[in-house]
Amino acid sequence: MDQHSTVILGAGLTGLSCALHLGRDYLLVEKQNEPGGIVRTRVRDTDAGPFHCDGTGHWLHFRDATIRALVERLLPGGLVEYERRAVIHLSGVFTPYPFQANTYGLPRETVLDCLLGLLRARHPEDFGLPRPDAPPRTFRESVERLFGEGICQHFMVPYNEKLLGVSLDEIAPEYAERFIPKPSLEAVVRGALGLSPEALGYNAKFLYPRTGGIGALSKAFAAALHIAPRLGVAASAIDLREKTVSFTDGTRARYERMLNTMPLVDFLRLATGVPDDIRAAAARLRATTVHYFDIGVRGPGAEASDHHWTYFPEPGFIFYRVGSYSAVHRDAAPAGCRSYYVEMSGGIRELLDRPDQLRDRVLADLRRAHVLAEEDEILFTDLRTIPHAYVIFDAHYEAARRTVVDFLAAHDVITHGRWGGWNYGGMEDAMIEGRAAAEELHPRQP
Ligand SMILES: Cc1cc2nc3c(=O)[nH]c(=O)nc-3n(C[C@H](O)[C@H](O)[C@H](O)COP(=O)(O)OP(=O)(O)OC[C@H]3O[C@@H](n4cnc5c(N)ncnc54)[C@H](O)[C@@H]3O)c2cc1C
Repeated sequence: MDQHSTVILGAGLTGLSCALHLGRDYLLVEKQNEPGGIVRTRVRDTDAGPFHCDGTGHWLHFRDATIRALVERLLPGGLVEYERRAVIHLSGVFTPYPFQANTYGLPRETVLDCLLGLLRARHPEDFGLPRPDAPPRTFRESVERLFGEGICQHFMVPYNEKLLGVSLDEIAPEYAERFIPKPSLEAVVRGALGLSPEALGYNAKFLYPRTGGIGALSKAFAAALHIAPRLGVAASAIDLREKTVSFTDGTRARYERMLNTMPLVDFLRLATGVPDDIRAAAARLRATTVHYFDIGVRGPGAEASDHHWTYFPEPGFIFYRVGSYSAVHRDAAPAGCRSYYVEMSGGIRELLDRPDQLRDRVLADLRRAHVLAEEDEILFTDLRTIPHAYVIFDAHYEAARRTVVDFLAAHDVITHGRWGGWNYGGMEDAMIEGRAAAEELHPRQP
């Protein structure tokens, strides 16, 4: 049996970044034949030419200058910056993202609901209302206090419930805090009058590899490793007491420490030596499953064909978000063609075993939303699944996660990444967590 000081399970960005920062003494194992998890780019050949489809829209944002510099150094073609063209579709109208600061153009009753709701939430005394004296208990309460009832009723609640497939009354107040723009009263009033001076939010601009799609990022990390990952081999059993891991190719390895980046709940299914109370905690960890279509189209397009991405809060549309790879990066589709990713969450279960009907419904909704024109020729529709896409931050989340993570740490297993750490992070978080894991596994000598 091989002996390794560190075994890393999973060569997504967390595992790749950990391996890169460790530099030596590790075994990195990845079940797929390519590194990157969903940060990969598939080439889809058609008679019009090749389409490049990522694992839904993956746009980069940086707040850590060292990680940004690392990415720029590793990526052969570097990065290109884009200004976001993201919109919301509501009442048959497209308004710019974020909804809360751009209600101009919506029916006047909707705009009034949003403005009055915000004023009531921020200045309750002027409406004879009490100011809440306790912190919010749920995500619904949290967004209602931040934005008021109108913005919540028309967008925040229906959109997030469509995305997560559960009531926002179940979600903890701090969910997605970092990702939600919180405009000033002035910005909301200006936005209601169509006078928004600037784009808001953490992703007003974003970066993307100049060549090779988002998969170029994972490939660049893998190429820079001193010890190449073992691809196409999955962990199949982990003995936490013996500190051994068995792989699907029949080999086994003994480890001193392990970094897990595969979904935490899947890891526990493979592990032996896990007491019942830890399994019970793991059973309380929940996540959504996202199904998405990659769609390739040839034709003239319609009014809304070129948005980078669009949010659909209304239940009449089966998807919650539609994005276009080719609207961001022209080379993602051949000349005269466009490509989309169409994301769906809860509420489509009954159509999943009827994929043709699901596809027809999606295409009909895309035409109704003016993303596709009647004359557009559909070149392909590929349905894919992300089994654990968004972690559900419910009342059990924090305690259940902590119980499992602490138990594994006591067995020399650290567990990080969006699904390994059972969290809500983006690609940069994965790279940061991988770096932090490397420091935890092999602390530098002072
Ligand atoms: C719909 C969606 C859209 C997103 N959009 C963005 C975006 O625009 N910008 C952004 O920054 N982030 C985005 N993200 C987040 C981003 O995808 C993640 O933060 C990132 O991919 C996490 O990487 P990871 O290494 O932690 O996990 P993963 O990439 O999942 O890595 C884990 C790896 O473990 C492997 N594995 C699983 N089981 C085994 C096993 N038994 N043995 C060995 N290997 C195994 C998997 O194949 C996988 O490669 C999005 C996520 C989703 C779901």
